[in-house]
Amino acid sequence: MTSTKPASCDIAIIGAGQAALQTIASLKSGGFDGAITLLGGEAFLPYQRPPLSKKFLNGTFERDRLFLKPDNYYTDNNVDVRLNTYVTHLDPDDLSLTCADGTFLSFSKAVICTGSRPRQLPVPGHDLENIFDLRTIADIEAMQPEFRARAKMVVVGGGYIGLETAASARQLGVDVTIVETAGRVLERVTKPELSDYFHALHTTNNVEILTDAQVTGFIGDTSVSGVALPNGDTLTADLVVLGIGIIPNTELADAGGLTVDNGVLVDAVGRTSHPDIYAAGDCTNHPNALLDRRLRLESVPNAIEQGKAVASDILGQPAPYTAIPWFWSDQYDVKLQIAGLSDTADRHVLRGNYADNAFAIFHFDGTQLVCVEAVNRPAEFMAARQLIKEAAGGRIYDPDMLGDETIKPKSWLS
Ligand code: ADP
Repeated sequence: MTSTKPASCDIAIIGAGQAALQTIASLKSGGFDGAITLLGGEAFLPYQRPPLSKKFLNGTFERDRLFLKPDNYYTDNNVDVRLNTYVTHLDPDDLSLTCADGTFLSFSKAVICTGSRPRQLPVPGHDLENIFDLRTIADIEAMQPEFRARAKMVVVGGGYIGLETAASARQLGVDVTIVETAGRVLERVTKPELSDYFHALHTTNNVEILTDAQVTGFIGDTSVSGVALPNGDTLTADLVVLGIGIIPNTELADAGGLTVDNGVLVDAVGRTSHPDIYAAGDCTNHPNALLDRRLRLESVPNAIEQGKAVASDILGQPAPYTAIPWFWSDQYDVKLQIAGLSDTADRHVLRGNYADNAFAIFHFDGTQLVCVEAVNRPAEFMAARQLIKEAAGGRIYDPDMLGDETIKPKSWLS
């Protein structure tokens, strides 16, 4: 049977994640009525990834709840969806692309939303069964049957993915050991205070955490049974989950001659170095005018804001993306919300206290408020997000005011 799929479209969206869906939704709500083709390498329509390591993994979310839009959204909006379709070549000069199955598609504009992939650990035994990445629905569905009470799991990496996986596993009674190469968990993304808090939260929940620890190999016949450490010790393992960071999927852009530098380089409306090709989401590196620096962010809010910016430019009403970055993580009964970036901070003030599992840490770079990390403190998070934006514009906030529990967050904004 010959394919009835058209060989050309107005907008080709490469990758079918959060940034892709947002670009489509914003184009449609802005009145775009051209032909959109969505090409996704996975078997699924765009879905939310954050619940994968949390409610989907621990079984409180059914798969159907992950999808960002129902199936009929795409047909109703005349979006030609092609799943299991991996784009292998992008030709910016010819405004065309080719897929692994040989499909050829020409376009007027393309949006690269290829996201990122889990970093691999190339040590002996890495290809044994029961060693899992955590990035896709398929990854979770493969590991879920192994999450049994008293099964022994080793998590490699103590970043957010590793810690969220550990928390979900503990809720199901799995025995968990985390192996982290750095001196503390969350070292890449936060300061020691919050690392110490999460370390204590996990040890209280009977997670064993090894820091300054390396994995030298995985042991087993067909399936993993142990994790080898440099001192000769072996950790028993029925399963292993890798959470050692991600690599942006920039190869398509790179091979097409687009500028790539720690992500596909885009401007504030998502334009790449080619005028008809845009990019959005995890795979990009974008300028943030508020913070006066370039960033490559791995977050849902970033994917959403970049998708909106790309659509605005395609619609001829460019609205540059200038948000303060924000993130969240759920572990046990702790909700962490972060606004801003703490990497340049040199001091902090604490509101509340760690023992109550309800506090906010305000980070300052000199006199400038640059970041809030709020644990079970949504009011502080919401208000501080706004303060950080105003602080980027030069406003100075008194650390004592932020730390003083008698002054309510909403009064900070007056
Ligand atoms: P993720 O989003 O996967 O959590 P991060 O980069 O935030 O990504 O965290 C990954 C963590 O994994 C970091 O704390 C890093 O120090 C740790 N890590 C990286 N490589 C290894 C390794 N080979 N063994 C153990 N931990 C590792």
